[in-house]
Amino acid sequence: MKHYDVIIIGESAAGVVAATTARKYYPGKNILIVRDVLHVPIPCGIPYIYGTAHDAMKNLIPVENIEKSNKLEALVGKVEAIDKVNKTISICDDLYGYDRLVIATGSKPIIPPIKGVDLENVFVVEKNTDYLQKLYDELKNVKDVVVIGGGFIGCEMAEEIKKYDNNLNVTIVEMQDHLLKIVYDEEFCILAEDALRTLNINILLNEQVKELSGDKKIKEVKLVSGKTLKADLVVLGIGAKANIDLARQAGLEIGLGNGIKVNRYMVTSDEAIFACGDCADKDSFFDHKVSMLKLASIATMEARIVGANLFKYTRINRGVVGCFSTVLNGNVFAAAGLNEDEAARKGFEIVTGVAESINRHPGLMPGGQNLKVKLLFEKGTRGIVGGEIYGAYSGGELINAISAFISNEMTADEIVIFQAGTHPALTASPIAYQLVNAAENALIKLINDQC
Ligand SMILES: Cc1cc2nc3c(=O)[nH]c(=O)nc-3n(C[C@H](O)[C@H](O)[C@H](O)COP(=O)(O)OP(=O)(O)OC[C@H]3O[C@@H](n4cnc5c(N)ncnc54)[C@H](O)[C@@H]3O)c2cc1C
Repeated sequence: MKHYDVIIIGESAAGVVAATTARKYYPGKNILIVRDVLHVPIPCGIPYIYGTAHDAMKNLIPVENIEKSNKLEALVGKVEAIDKVNKTISICDDLYGYDRLVIATGSKPIIPPIKGVDLENVFVVEKNTDYLQKLYDELKNVKDVVVIGGGFIGCEMAEEIKKYDNNLNVTIVEMQDHLLKIVYDEEFCILAEDALRTLNINILLNEQVKELSGDKKIKEVKLVSGKTLKADLVVLGIGAKANIDLARQAGLEIGLGNGIKVNRYMVTSDEAIFACGDCADKDSFFDHKVSMLKLASIATMEARIVGANLFKYTRINRGVVGCFSTVLNGNVFAAAGLNEDEAARKGFEIVTGVAESINRHPGLMPGGQNLKVKLLFEKGTRGIVGGEIYGAYSGGELINAISAFISNEMTADEIVIFQAGTHPALTASPIAYQLVNAAENALIKLINDQC
């Protein structure tokens, strides 16, 4: 039996970062990384296979290069069992011993319990290149496409499928009253819907799917309201659940969010086994209640904790802030922390500030585009708890500054005097700088509120 200091199961966002971090902190350790797929898709790049890359093989994590440059041993095979007493894993009939084990087995798409999900041409968004290519290859044979689920994956899939062929009739069906409702406040959701409608994507809100019907292949999507949609192809994008099969089999504790239970050092109920990424249970930065968010930004943050902590605890997980971004019809939609609904659910009293202006000065500079920033502050402490951005591409990075502000619990008073670098060709003018001005607008309300 071959023995390793560290074995990592899963070689996507979390597994790769756990391995590369471990290599930096423990240069002398021998590390084995195991994946059950030959090619690992870049998960966040999956929608862009359809209208941009046009080939699932052009959207891959370069795992072989990463293994080579980090001196990782690698194996392609499915880990079938973990024996935590003898500290071994098994792949086929072979056993491999470990001192530390990292489970980074990710998540699987949720398949709703509705009739017809097993019909031909009903796809989920699975992180498997052959499967994703099959979806791509089918697009040339279809006319009516229905995307079920109006979260960011559903919206991105719909836009890219429309981009593949503008003649396709693409419809998003969403059971909530708005697309992207979990992430954004209503005014941003409406902007997102407008962006997609401009592309001639049909949007059905407040509609729930009752049944998928057809003979062998999908023909129709039947809605609870009684409406019926023609469909030659369906994409189910209603979320993902933690892949905890191995952890369950090994007898590891499972948390309230149905992920592998970990402590703040990312250690599972067995002290030699760590877990990170979509398979690990999460709690919120704001109140330490369960968080169901599954994002690459969270997975890699957790993996950086695991990689460093393997033989000496030096990092702790402070909980999920939640930082997203997407682009719909050339407009950035980004959010960090809580939106107004979530803040209310968590019992925060909120004051908001908004600032909107062009992201260049003067506005005629190349790349000039509108950028709107909304910030949310907690009334009592004046601490920032959330932010949303719409518009220019620079919003995709600006949201990360907001995420850092939230993580560091900065107050409106501190943000208004933060020094933002500006340049005519790169940013809004220092006079109109949206991040500072949104905080100032909120601060005025906070101060007036106290009088
Ligand atoms: C379409 C799409 C778009 C997304 N876009 C974004 C985005 O823009 N930004 C963002 O932050 N997040 C995004 N996400 C979420 C992000 O992709 C996930 O949070 C991230 O992939 C989690 O990484 P992970 O390594 O934990 O899990 P996964 O990516 O699920 O990887 C787990 C890996 O483990 C392997 N594995 C599982 N079981 C075994 C076993 N028994 N033996 C060996 N190997 C095994 C799997 O095959 C897989 O390769 C998106 C997700 C999807 C599906």
